[in-house]
Amino acid sequence: MIVCKFGGTSVQDAGAILRLAKIVAARRHEQPVVVVSALARVTDSLVSLAESVRQGHGAALEATLETLHDRHRAVAADLAGGEAALPALDAAFAELRRVLRPAVGRVLSPAERDLLLGQGELWSSRLVEAALAGAGLPVAWVDARQVIVTDDRHGRATPQLEAIRKAAHAVLAPLLAGGRIPLTQGFIGATAAGRPTILGRGGSDFTASLLGAALDAVRVEIWTDVNGLMTADPRIVPEARTLASATYDEAAELATFGAKVLHPATQLPLAAAGIPIVILNAQHPDHPGTIIGATRASALRADGPIGSISWKPGAILVNVRAPRMLGAYGFLRQLFEVFERHEVPVDVLASSEVSVSLTVEDKSRLEALVRDLAPLGEVTVNEGRAIVAVVGHGMLSSPGIAARVFGAVQPANIEVISQGASATNLTFVVREVDGPAIVQRLHREFFGSP
Ligand code: ASP
Ligand code: MG
Repeated sequence: MIVCKFGGTSVQDAGAILRLAKIVAARRHEQPVVVVSALARVTDSLVSLAESVRQGHGAALEATLETLHDRHRAVAADLAGGEAALPALDAAFAELRRVLRPAVGRVLSPAERDLLLGQGELWSSRLVEAALAGAGLPVAWVDARQVIVTDDRHGRATPQLEAIRKAAHAVLAPLLAGGRIPLTQGFIGATAAGRPTILGRGGSDFTASLLGAALDAVRVEIWTDVNGLMTADPRIVPEARTLASATYDEAAELATFGAKVLHPATQLPLAAAGIPIVILNAQHPDHPGTIIGATRASALRADGPIGSISWKPGAILVNVRAPRMLGAYGFLRQLFEVFERHEVPVDVLASSEVSVSLTVEDKSRLEALVRDLAPLGEVTVNEGRAIVAVVGHGMLSSPGIAARVFGAVQPANIEVISQGASATNLTFVVREVDGPAIVQRLHREFFGSP
């Protein structure tokens, strides 16, 4: 079997959903399981709904709900067979109104918020169900909350792989065996007790890979609106090229630092089993896209150790200078305990004998974080930083790469350098204003001029 996941822009209107139906029909003999995201921008609207509820803006709530309902009804009206989606859609909107109206003026509980944020996928999957049925395909709509079992960490729940494998075999495998095309939602799950959860923003990719791993797929296809992973962000480097292939590690680095194409955890469940991920463009289904696997498909790429150059603005650099760290132990544990207590993830990390530099993204916790770090040493904070990552498999074993990287960065200043032992990336922190020019110079150095 295969898993075909379609992102928000691949279901954003009737035209996109028709293209989806054609793509699925062409893969019917491969036993596809279809996973869909919410229509483009819908999850953002749901986030704003939660805010309207909290602020007691009942009128804004009603207006946004009406706009969302209208948009889904309009897509249904444009689809052949789309009217089949209306009863389920209308019922889902009625139920949501019933839940949200009495909550106006208060903060939603984490479980209520997850229930709300996951509605977009439930709606979109009803539209796609109608379109696939309208195209004569034997679709079977499945509620993902029956299969994607998670812990109860609302907002960003952790999937429970063994439970998911069992549920996928109980719920999805019989459908596949019966010649049906299971269609389900990305992003949403439920605890073992049935309370709704979500996998974090962009989590539909993760759903696809969880199902692919659970059912031993031959590949997982991620359908999006670009041709694949690229050598750099094309908005900054117009001559950037699509990568024909990348390794799991490279894809994870790229997803973490910059490229929004793939959820960072997507490769996790698949890498162990060696199941390839293919990134494909639903608007140009004939483009071969990027294939991600354990090794780069060497026939496709002969060009050197660098796969791509990414950057991520909006980093905050935190330095802790602590002379007492010299020769002491236990210091790093104390330091990281502070980050753990405030639930602030660290992106880049480097240390010297007497200081530690880290970057964080979350500004909301910064003040409290700095206050609690202060007893450990002298803390300085620099905002407006960017993380640049040169990503490539086997970089460490290629002499001279670092010199070329630092040569290309000049005359800008590098504030922190970090190279992991995985040797998949050379990462450094620069001032955000310098970022785009640095990425352009690096791209020219490693990929040549246009
Ligand atoms: N719809 C969800 C989001 O916007 C999940 C996804 O699209 O992957 O984050
Ligand atoms: Mg996405």
